[in-house]
Amino acid sequence: MVSMSNETIFSKIIRKEIPADIVYQDDLVTAFRDIAPKAPTHILIIPNKIIPTAADVTTEDEPTLGRLFIVARKVAEQEGIAQSGYRLIVNCKEHGGQEVDHLHMHLVGGQPLGPMLTH
Ligand code: 5GP
Repeated sequence: MVSMSNETIFSKIIRKEIPADIVYQDDLVTAFRDIAPKAPTHILIIPNKIIPTAADVTTEDEPTLGRLFIVARKVAEQEGIAQSGYRLIVNCKEHGGQEVDHLHMHLVGGQPLGPMLTH
């Protein structure tokens, strides 16, 4: 069982204890606009359950991880970027540039995004 000490600011967003622009929520995942958007559409899709990083996923998490992709597709349609395309990003730990230790998928689009890595 994951203890409260694993909580990040994202747990408070899921419980609506702090403000966030939530665009979708169901029993498994929550999607909300990134506070510092890197493109016209920048939404974070996160499991409601605390999974700290991509390195912590288990087979038990398969339904939740599948839901992240389904919701990414739905939200991309809602945002009107399904046709033009978008990028889904999951950063993992220090070298991946992960800042918040609550697994999250970035949905980024609304303009051409350029090369995936700049160096
Ligand atoms: P990471 O670098 O961990 O992959 O991405 C974390 C993302 O969370 C960043 O893009 C950052 O702007 C976003 N973020 C951090 N704190 C908050 C917050 O309190 N609210 C929202 N909506 N986004 C946040």
